Amino acid sequence: MNYCKVILKPKKEDSLLRFHPWVFSGAIQSIEGKPEEGDLVGVYGANGHFLGVGHCQIGSIAVRILSFQQTVIDEKFWEERIRSAYTLRKLLRLAGVENNNTYRLVHGEGDNLPGLIIDMYAETAVVQAHSVGMHMARHAIAEALKIVLGDELKNIYYKSESTLPYKTELACEDGYLYGGEVEDIALENGLKFYVDWLKGQKTGFFVDQRDNRSLLKQYAKDRSVLNMFCYTGGFSFYAMRGGARLVHSVDSSAKAIQMTKKNVELNFPGDTRHEAYAKDAFKYLEKMGENYDLIILDPPAFAKHKNVLKNALQGYRKLNAIAFEKIKPGGILFTFSCSQVVSKENFRLAVFSAAAQSGRKVKILHQLTQPADHPVNIYHPEGEYLKGLVLYVE
Ligand code: SAH
Repeated sequence: MNYCKVILKPKKEDSLLRFHPWVFSGAIQSIEGKPEEGDLVGVYGANGHFLGVGHCQIGSIAVRILSFQQTVIDEKFWEERIRSAYTLRKLLRLAGVENNNTYRLVHGEGDNLPGLIIDMYAETAVVQAHSVGMHMARHAIAEALKIVLGDELKNIYYKSESTLPYKTELACEDGYLYGGEVEDIALENGLKFYVDWLKGQKTGFFVDQRDNRSLLKQYAKDRSVLNMFCYTGGFSFYAMRGGARLVHSVDSSAKAIQMTKKNVELNFPGDTRHEAYAKDAFKYLEKMGENYDLIILDPPAFAKHKNVLKNALQGYRKLNAIAFEKIKPGGILFTFSCSQVVSKENFRLAVFSAAAQSGRKVKILHQLTQPADHPVNIYHPEGEYLKGLVLYVE
């Protein structure tokens, strides 16, 4: 391997010996050569022994390790890693089955590909790079996807304009790496929905709520449901399938509401149980009466960085407090946080404070997390980001 060498300070190799895939800039003693951001580098301990090979980047995480062995990062490497990710999704019965073609194929560190996200929507793969190294490798990744998925794949859309650091220098543009513009109808547990990966949020859909949406279906019968922060309506169509009496979907984005209506119509044409509103969550919750006995709160990440954690926790407390105050007796609350920097304990504490403020009797029925196609690498616990509680409010 002719990669530049990154040599660590004495005693800074422990986390790598435990297969944690990040090298922090403060751990580096010296660098041999002049690697550019995104280049492959070899990482070595203070006494010169090899620790791993990875992509280097500017910032506090200086290297993301791709392999802890002396692996050559070539076409074969990408093919093997993507094949292993795909094999797992088949094992999970998310890929290659009749009633589902929507799943996360690659979940960064969870699939030993730090900085890379790939979501599948029917015949389209949406690829998102979170590091310059993955951006540089995008064509190799696209080739590997074609080999692994074969006929199942017709399009690859690359969407990294907003996720790459230092994007201006890279002049990264979103666009198709393979195939062309299509309007795909994706399937999740037999439910249909349009996905707009071009203009939608993230890769186009929140694949990570699949299992939690299924659970909601079991609680929906004869209930009046409020799906707050509905985006394109995921929880709403499961509530309808579960026999909800009425479903109100709310999101501040008018585009999301339009899509929600389209998606509900696709699954339940002419069904009058559903209504959707483009409204701010806090304003809607404050104004609404005690109309609902099943409420979903799935807000966007309130904290993207550690330094705003306190505000974020207050945000969760305030939001949940209104729900506790307004939900009907015997109501069920599905409440979530997708902020990586908010721990399970902190989130629970924020919800606890909100419950206490309402004075209601509250029981935790389920503690939820992300589904198996968003696996957490056991050596990288930071990969666990989605937290949810299902609460019974007497
Ligand atoms: N539950 C959704 C995903 C929610 S993502 C699903 O299953 O697909 C968070 C959503 O919150 C986004 O659609 C965003 O438009 C919306 N949002 C952000 N701020 C908001 C606010 N103040 N009021 C209402 N919606 C908001």
